Amino acid sequence: MVRLAGVQKHYGNLHVLKDIDLDVARGEVVVVIGPSGAGKSTLCRAINRLETIDEGEILLDGQPLPQEGKGLARLRADVGMVFQSFNLFAHKTVLENVTLGPIKVRKKSKAEAEARAKELLERVGVAHQAAKYPAQLSGGQQQRVAIARALAMDPKVMLFDEPTSALDPEMIKEVLDVMVDLAERGMTMIVVTHEMGFARTAANRVVFMADGAIVETTNPEKFFTNPESDRAKDFLGKIL
Ligand code: ATP
Ligand code: MG
Repeated sequence: MVRLAGVQKHYGNLHVLKDIDLDVARGEVVVVIGPSGAGKSTLCRAINRLETIDEGEILLDGQPLPQEGKGLARLRADVGMVFQSFNLFAHKTVLENVTLGPIKVRKKSKAEAEARAKELLERVGVAHQAAKYPAQLSGGQQQRVAIARALAMDPKVMLFDEPTSALDPEMIKEVLDVMVDLAERGMTMIVVTHEMGFARTAANRVVFMADGAIVETTNPEKFFTNPESDRAKDFLGKIL
């Protein structure tokens, strides 16, 4: 579904993605974990073309990522992204946040987009907030709206970049529950998170990154109990 091969990326002299190879199959959930500055966000941003890469290739469904124009808008719809900061449109209601993309990019009718949006808001547990503005919602509610907004585009894959790290502890679970449900429904997901519980429940694989490189790829249970690399052992020693 998503394939990265020999991906290299620099910011000036800084080598932020070092020869990244990663294959994510349809329905697979991959958790990406690693210290600050490892390149996790850059990796996500490259996959929906918020960042360019210097070398290598990224394929979605076997096709190279489009570089501009309408193709790019479609790519952003096909690759749903949820950020640490919720990034909702502040001057649109919750319902409008979720219907805007489907109407503009997917060319759905307003009625069709609203029906689907209500269904998704229901699924993530914020249906009763549909007429409110983002600032009137809690962080956990806003993040669930952000997930619904991405899902409304019928994405092929969902990227999550530390979706719970800006949330108060009591809101983390409500967002993780939505993500676990999504994983169980077969969504292809790439999730940057240090939430071990989510990784153990939902992930098929853990990819550990450090200094721009993938250091090890393993199953969650093994990663958290018996990682191979010293780099991962050192990192887990700090976060667990
Ligand atoms: P964190 O856990 O802190 O979110 P990360 O693994 O997501 O870290 P990235 O944000 O991908 O790391 O950053 C990788 C490296 O690239 C870091 O050293 C960062 O300072 C640098 N970097 C990121 N964005 C830019 C940019 N736009 N210009 C220059 N350097 C950047
Ligand atoms: Mg990051």
